[in-house]
Amino acid sequence: MFSEAVKRIERQYEIKRTQADALFIAEKKEIYDANPRLAELDKEITSCGIRTARLSLQPNSDKIQKEIKDLQNKILELKSEKQEILDKLKVTLSPKYSCDKCNDTGYILKNGLSEMCSCMKQELLNEAYNKSNMYNLQDETFDNLDLNLFSTEPNLERYGSPTSPRENIQKIIQVSKDFIKDFSNKDQKNLLFTGSAGIGKTYISSCIANEIIKNGHTVLYQTAPLLLDSIFDYKYNNKSTKALYDNLFNVNLLIIDDLGTENLTAAKFSEIFTLLNARLLTPNTKTIISTNFSLEELSKMYDTRIVSRLIGNFNICRFFGEDIRLKH
Ligand SMILES: [Zn+2]
Repeated sequence: MFSEAVKRIERQYEIKRTQADALFIAEKKEIYDANPRLAELDKEITSCGIRTARLSLQPNSDKIQKEIKDLQNKILELKSEKQEILDKLKVTLSPKYSCDKCNDTGYILKNGLSEMCSCMKQELLNEAYNKSNMYNLQDETFDNLDLNLFSTEPNLERYGSPTSPRENIQKIIQVSKDFIKDFSNKDQKNLLFTGSAGIGKTYISSCIANEIIKNGHTVLYQTAPLLLDSIFDYKYNNKSTKALYDNLFNVNLLIIDDLGTENLTAAKFSEIFTLLNARLLTPNTKTIISTNFSLEELSKMYDTRIVSRLIGNFNICRFFGEDIRLKH
């Protein structure tokens, strides 16, 4: 199943690459048609190149050396004239691939070995997990978040905080931006989002996911019940593949949503505990946990060992305010 997905995505990449190449050829033709000097320059550069090659085959002499040197200087001049024209037009003559690490091939060379690019790993994760969770990763950015949806009125009684919902969400946005900036720093804590539904937890985690992917890391989103099903399917029913199971441990950012809604048994508890512990020890991995329950409520549901892991290794962000989905 996994290798089928790889093949399918490789075909998609090939189509993407072919389209980018075709687009480039068309764009180049347009630029060259509008600026005939470019074609002349190309012709001259090629002709100087051929003459240089021919000269270098002749018996060596001072005269030949000088002619070669002159031609090389001429080529440099022609190239810089070409670059000046392109700079003036503000264009670059290369295909526009969506990933500039792998040029949409899906693979990069690392220490002489071919390795899957993070963009392709992410495609596989999206296919395997993220799409099925209706996780709309595209439009959610910090810039698109309408702060007017958050009241500027503090209400200690209602929200249990002297801070207004607006001020609170601004703090959370800052914590999230720091998290993105220091993602690969081992001292950067994970994030725990608590608070009732509809006040921006999923939105903010999507914003973070978008940025993390843009920075070339992989992201996997999973609700706690589905996550435990994936683990159990792999370990006990062999329905899921090891590659998918491994992803839960190795993906750069794992987002566990809806913690506390799963039917918790001792076995499930120990799986979550193992996963969190393993991720805390794996370099360049971070976890965001989102829950509708408060820390106090979680402490009642789970063993103190999990809660103390959360308190020690997670920055806790409490969301509060009115349901913004109703306001939309
Ligand atoms: Zn790539």
